[in-house]
Order: sequence, then C-alpha cells, then structure tokens
Amino acid sequence: MKYISTRGGAAPQAFSDILLGGLAPDGGLYLPERYPQVSAAELAEWRELPYHALALRILQKYIDDIPACDLKMLVDRTYTAQTYRYCRPGRDADDITPLTTLEPGFHLLELSNGPTLAFKDMAMQLLGNLFEYVLAKRNDTINILGATSGDTGSAAEYAMRGKKGVRVFMLSPDGKMSAFQRAQMYSLQDENITNIAIRGMFDDCQDIVKAVSNDADFKSRFKIGAVNSINWARVLAQIIYYFKGYFAATRSNEEQVIFSVPSGNFGNICAGHIARMMGLPIAQLVLATNENDVLDEFFRTGVYRPRGTADTYVTSSPSMDISKASNFERFVFDLVGRDPAAVREFWAKVDAGGSFDLRDTPFMAQLPKFGFVSGKSTHADRLATIRAVWQSHQIMIDTHTADAVKVAREHMSAGVPTSLPMIVLETAQAVKFSETIHEALGCDPSRPKALEGIEALPQRVSVMDADAAAVKTLIANRC
Ligand SMILES: *Cc1c(COP(=O)(O)O)cnc(C)c1O
Repeated sequence: MKYISTRGGAAPQAFSDILLGGLAPDGGLYLPERYPQVSAAELAEWRELPYHALALRILQKYIDDIPACDLKMLVDRTYTAQTYRYCRPGRDADDITPLTTLEPGFHLLELSNGPTLAFKDMAMQLLGNLFEYVLAKRNDTINILGATSGDTGSAAEYAMRGKKGVRVFMLSPDGKMSAFQRAQMYSLQDENITNIAIRGMFDDCQDIVKAVSNDADFKSRFKIGAVNSINWARVLAQIIYYFKGYFAATRSNEEQVIFSVPSGNFGNICAGHIARMMGLPIAQLVLATNENDVLDEFFRTGVYRPRGTADTYVTSSPSMDISKASNFERFVFDLVGRDPAAVREFWAKVDAGGSFDLRDTPFMAQLPKFGFVSGKSTHADRLATIRAVWQSHQIMIDTHTADAVKVAREHMSAGVPTSLPMIVLETAQAVKFSETIHEALGCDPSRPKALEGIEALPQRVSVMDADAAAVKTLIANRC
C-alpha cells in the first residue's frame, strides 16, 4: 500500500516514510492510494475478535512495510486493559472501548479510558510505539515540538514518555490550563519529556512552534517533528474503534448503524468516513460542532468558510474550538472523485484566507452519497444535555460528548429511521471539564482513584517568555 497526496504533487510513499512526517511536500495530506475493502467473511470473523486482534487485521490492510509479527507485537503492547483502565465501574477494561447503552438503540462508545482521559490516547498510544519501532530500525531520532492548550499535548506526552529515540518539547500557556491538566503534564518525570510554560496565550505557543519549524536549518539539524492531527497514522488508528463499536451495538453484519461524532479538526469523523468507505455498514455519520460551526455550515450549505482565529469562539467544549478543520481536505479529496486538481483549486482559496462554494459544481450532487448529516450545539445545549443524561441515567458525560448527544437526539427526532442504532462517540471524561459539569449539575465529577491527588505531585516545567530564540536554545541544550 502506497500513500499519495491530496494535491497530487508528491511521489507515492510507504507507510513508514510518512509516519514521522506531517504534510506532504506539496502541502497536501497523505491518504492511501485506495481504500482496502472488507469482505463479508472478514466482517464475520472480526466480529468475535478482541480489540488488539481486530486492530491488527485492520492495520495490516494499510501497513505492508512492517513485518506482521512486529506489527502484532506493537499492537498487543498498545491496546491493553492496563493502558485503557479508567473505564466506568462495571465495564470491562479488556474491551478497550466499552459500549454503554443509555436506552435501546442509543449507545455511548467509551473512547476516553486511556491515561489522559480523552480519545486522543486511542491513536497516540499506537503512534508512540510505532515511532519507537521505526526510529530504532532506522537508527534515527526525533524531537517532537508541539503547542497545546490541553488534550493533545498531554496525550502526546503520555504516548511518548520513555520511548527510545523520541524527545518531546511541549509548549503550553503559563497558568491558562486547569490545575488538573497542569498536573497531568508537568508531573511527568521522564527524561525525554520537556514541558515549557510560555508567559502568554496558546497562540503565542503556536507562533513559536511555527517560527522554529520555519527555520529550515534548525529543523533539520535537530530533527524537529510533530504529532499533529493531520498525521495519517492517527487517523488510521481511529478507524479501528468504528468497527469495534459497530460489532458491539449490533447482532449481525446485515445491520446498519449511525455514528455521532463531536468534531473539531475532522480527524475522528474522517476515520469514520474511511471505515464506511471500506465497507463497514454505516448508514450515516452525524457531525456535531459547538459554536464554532464551520463544518456544520459546510454540510448544510456546501460552502466551506474557515474563520480567522479572532473569530473563533472560546467555548466549554474547547477541544472543538477550531477556525479551520485541518483534516477536512482528506474528505474533499474523496468527494471530488480523488481529483487533485480540484483540491488544489479549492485550497488555493482556503490557503489565501478565503472560502469555496460547491453549490455551482457537480460535486454538490455527490455529497449525499457520503452519508453525512450535521448540527451544532451551544453552551446552553451542553448544560441541558449533561443534566438530562445525568437525570435519566446517572451517567456523567463531558462537554464534547454532550454536543454529539444533543445533535444525535435532534437528528433522530427529525425523522431518521429510529430502528438504526445510534452510537455516540464519547471523547473525554467529565472530570476533565469539571467546571462546566459543576455548572450543569451543582456537583463535581469523581475522578479515577489512581488520579486522585495528582495536583500535589512534584512538577517539572520551565517557565519562559514567548521568545522563539530562547526555546531554540533550550532545545539545543537538551539534545
Ligand atoms: C480533539 C477532540 C475532539 C475533536 O476531534 P477532531 O478529531 O479534532 O474532530 C473532540 N473531543 C475531544 C474531547 C477532543 O479532545
């Protein structure tokens, strides 16, 4: 299997060659040259498999440059009940992504039982093991530089801690994260993890990452890399739980399901789209946004109109506060019949700060074929949804999951055949957003026992001014 760029200007690459990189050299995103199909016989066999075995079957269709026995070892090491142990009382951690049924035909797929209590662990943990493996084979190293306001940075650190050949330099805005988030990241004592708190905002952190990455000399000398949401392996790892969720919510492979996905950068739901393209019986993909509704607007109107950062709302589902959706180009590549010229034309507009409009193109007629529907949710909706789920089921859901529950319910009452099971992806645990939970319920979520009191652990963090040169010096000194 080779990987090609959505913009058509990069030589096809093997999996291991795109694993450590980000964008293709032509500015596009990598996708497999075709989507491997799943036969009825395979689906029948896969239904009975534990998570790690299912993962291996799916990954093998996409990765042909890592020997099967090595891939098996990496996958077995990644998807363990020990790593994904923070499940709800009464659920089986061996399921990795247990399914909680709220009422017949309405389910939550728990994706947030990993070390940082958010679904990003699902993919990032695999990435950590893949990076270590490929770097060792190549006798190479990487220095991952990132900026985070919470979820992504901690998931990256917990995935890369102690990994040979990998160092992480993670910038976060000083004093802007919750005490719990700070404790999660800054209490890591691993030699290869460096936390840098920048006196400034998240944007300042991101500007420093850009400035450092734009220094081509520094970048190649210190092997600077990233693990951002456009990384293909992250999308790939997320395909697995769509299969797992489908099997858990159905009895036979004749059935169809609907997934509802709280969306920001379009990474999670892109994996759902690919699972559907592989032949998993997904009738519809419900895309839920918060007040930052650039994707909802697209699926309702056919107009993709990214906003400026100044027009991005700060919301109570912060991991979906995006102005443009970095993975969206992957879907559009499929929508336009995999014609890179069309993608180039659209993204010439987007990259110049503009928008594009499908309404006068033949592609608009293709859109329904892909099964997307969309909706948005506001802070008031989140509070009401968190309350309703708590009152009816005594289950606390987080703010992002609440957005997806709200839009799923709205969609079902709008006349979808209700016989189809609805699977809402639960992307974080309530405890990560306890302020909003408190606002909704008047009480605080409990946290997993093992994470009680982490705020009191010693912390390791360098506080610095928002100065790219100083960050470069620090990186150089640690390498
Ligand atoms: C990252 C994140 C999302 C959004 O996922 P995308 O892949 O960016 O669409 C939703 N919920 C939570 C909790 C997240 O951390």
